[in-house]
Amino acid sequence: MLLNDIEFHEASTLREASEWMGRYAPDARLMAGGTDLLVDLKTRRCSTNHVVSINRIAALRGLTTTNGSLRIGALTTASDLHNATMIWERFPGIVDAVKDMAVLQIRNMATIGGNIAGAVPSGDLPPILVVLNASVMLWSVSGERQVPLEDFFTGPRQTVRKQDEILTEIRVPYPPPRFGAAYVPFALREANGCAVASVAASLLVDEKNVIRDARVCLGAVAPVPKLAKTVGAALVGKLADEAAFGRAAKEAKEVALPISDVRGSANYRRELIGILTQRALHSAHKRAVGGAQ
Ligand SMILES: Cc1cc2nc3c(=O)[nH]c(=O)nc-3n(C[C@H](O)[C@H](O)[C@H](O)COP(=O)(O)OP(=O)(O)OC[C@H]3O[C@@H](n4cnc5c(N)ncnc54)[C@H](O)[C@@H]3O)c2cc1C
Repeated sequence: MLLNDIEFHEASTLREASEWMGRYAPDARLMAGGTDLLVDLKTRRCSTNHVVSINRIAALRGLTTTNGSLRIGALTTASDLHNATMIWERFPGIVDAVKDMAVLQIRNMATIGGNIAGAVPSGDLPPILVVLNASVMLWSVSGERQVPLEDFFTGPRQTVRKQDEILTEIRVPYPPPRFGAAYVPFALREANGCAVASVAASLLVDEKNVIRDARVCLGAVAPVPKLAKTVGAALVGKLADEAAFGRAAKEAKEVALPISDVRGSANYRRELIGILTQRALHSAHKRAVGGAQ
């Protein structure tokens, strides 16, 4: 399908982008890599007369390390994350999420900001970033605010972001020792297949292998990435072993809210959630006791 006539605005600063988004509200869309937006416009899932591109704002690209956290610029692509040694060393759970995401050509364009702000329930990065306690920075001409990622999503393709706010960076705190996180998606094909269901898990264990903190986030089985708080809470204080992970998997199946669609029935997705939860917890535990987070 062809695109409608659209006015294209290429911002060179955040201020310009935010002002244009405000000026043309509500009929304006931000564009980063365009891998989601252009498909949505071409298939008429959404329409607009104004596209504001932030792709030339260099300050939004790349990784910065600070004392307490890693800062990932919103325009950092899935390939950038995959190619960064420090991500492999300190955040292997993020590698889990980007290594099989789409094909290389898409990974080279797909930004982390777009993956999060697009709020597609099957998006690969939100679940792992939620269990890593990440937050997003939102900037507009009226000010800046920080929102924990678990509070960012409000529904499919819906977030708390205001029309003129730009997601500028993602902050991921450095994990403590004996912490591990992993992401396990299930897709129908290796490349270009959105997750039918996915699970991210993180564990903090003590020297006696007792779980001190646990987070489990379910992807593609609820309107938003679903932090399964009861599943995590039930693990705390338990010995980190397959029996505990099996009980957690059972509980995760109960709290999932899957729908049926062309990629799988609700029951199929629920079964998957059980299996993926056990696998994600197993991997997170291996990383927690093996040294790398
Ligand atoms: C063939 C194909 C395969 C794909 N496979 C996968 C996959 O396996 N896993 C997966 O998770 N995704 C997949 N996607 C979806 C897409 O590539 C990713 O979600 C990508 O990260 C989106 O980033 P983008 O920069 O292209 O976003 P864009 O398309 O530019 O934008 C997406 C949405 O986010 C908003 N937005 C973008 N950046 C910002 C920002 N900084 N601040 C505020 N709002 C912003 C836009 O307004 C738009 O609503 C696939 C897409 C295609 C076309």
